[in-house]
Amino acid sequence: MTDTIDCVVIGAGVVGLAVARACAQQGWETVLVEAENAIGTGTSSRNSEVIHAGIYYAQGSLKARLCVEGKRKLYAYCEEKGVAYRRCGKLIVATSESQLDKLRAIRAAAAANGVDDLVWLTREEALAKEPALHCVAALESPSTGILDSHGLMLALQGDFEAAGGMLAFCSPVVGGSVNASRVDQPIQLDIGGTEPMPLLAKRVVNSAGLYAQQVAHTIRGMRPEAIAPWRYAKGNYYSLAGAAPFSRLVYPVPEPGGLGVHLTLDLGGQARFGPDVEWIDTIDYTVDPRRAASFYAAIRAYWPALPDDALQPGYAGIRPKLAIPAKDGDFMIQDAGEHGVTGLVNLYGIESPGLTASLAIADEVVERLQQA
Ligand SMILES: Cc1cc2nc3c(=O)[nH]c(=O)nc-3n(C[C@H](O)[C@H](O)[C@H](O)COP(=O)(O)OP(=O)(O)OC[C@H]3O[C@@H](n4cnc5c(N)ncnc54)[C@H](O)[C@@H]3O)c2cc1C
Repeated sequence: MTDTIDCVVIGAGVVGLAVARACAQQGWETVLVEAENAIGTGTSSRNSEVIHAGIYYAQGSLKARLCVEGKRKLYAYCEEKGVAYRRCGKLIVATSESQLDKLRAIRAAAAANGVDDLVWLTREEALAKEPALHCVAALESPSTGILDSHGLMLALQGDFEAAGGMLAFCSPVVGGSVNASRVDQPIQLDIGGTEPMPLLAKRVVNSAGLYAQQVAHTIRGMRPEAIAPWRYAKGNYYSLAGAAPFSRLVYPVPEPGGLGVHLTLDLGGQARFGPDVEWIDTIDYTVDPRRAASFYAAIRAYWPALPDDALQPGYAGIRPKLAIPAKDGDFMIQDAGEHGVTGLVNLYGIESPGLTASLAIADEVVERLQQA
């Protein structure tokens, strides 16, 4: 008979690592099981590495609350652990008079979320900061930044292991069972890989990212109707050959499904553009070079001097979207109150700003598990 572990976390992306760290720091014996042979090989290494301010999200949503809380925690954590970051700031630009109302709405949404440091810039003020820009007005967000996401994940792993946590690579969850009618019954997970084995746990956090719902569907006793339907929205990036034209991040007004083709910088100062929004059925990270034409058009709206042939296909990430319009694109942190299984938390739809919010999501999950 296998011993019952206090807690199993499924998936060693940035969110799973943050959750596992927080669980281990509670003094719970915690095992983090990861299908791959390394941390952060999923969405956590295929994003823009931006520390978001919390500007766009619906008031009262999990995204709004956890992004703002997460940003504060993340800057403090990076400082404490020596994880590289830069508070470079960002501009959201209106490129025509018709977008000014949208810019005002963004400022109001940000203020409702407690982000009250946005500065309205006239065209002249924006150009004084970023001379290569075309815009009619802009909002400056001074608390937006960039970070070394892999450095963050290594720091989280270090803390997790220092608190006694165990990380098991090449250990995919391939099945399991729950008994929703018995609160004292442990959750069983079946681990595949080279040494298949069952694990019994008092608490399980499903943080399998793009595969979180598939994992839930393999667990016997889970009510299928409680498993949130999902869709994938791929985001393609193009990199810029040559020097970056801006010193801040530059975003257009958002488009449905994403934030619009924006310019982000890495910590080395290299510029990349994206992600766009491509709805897909199967996971495929190839960047189609034919998408370049739409990038040139979108970027030239705010950077008219973009030279021909300056863009090269970069990489792609995939957003795990919830296919539930009523959820309005929010994160779903699902506990027994929704699915009926004591001790189980499913994390669905953890798309952007999941990196920024990771430490706050972890605290939220621990709180829910403490109440279980
Ligand atoms: C294009 C794009 C850009 C983004 N940009 C930003 C940004 O700039 N700022 C920001 O804050 N957020 C951003 N995000 C969001 C952020 O990247 C994600 O929210 C975050 O990385 C999600 O982390 P995760 O741990 O939930 O998922 P993942 O990183 O995908 O980790 C899930 C892990 O689970 C493992 N797994 C899967 N199935 C199993 C199984 N059966 N058993 C065991 N393990 C399993 C996977 O191998 C993987 O390691 C972006 C997302 C995308 C797609």
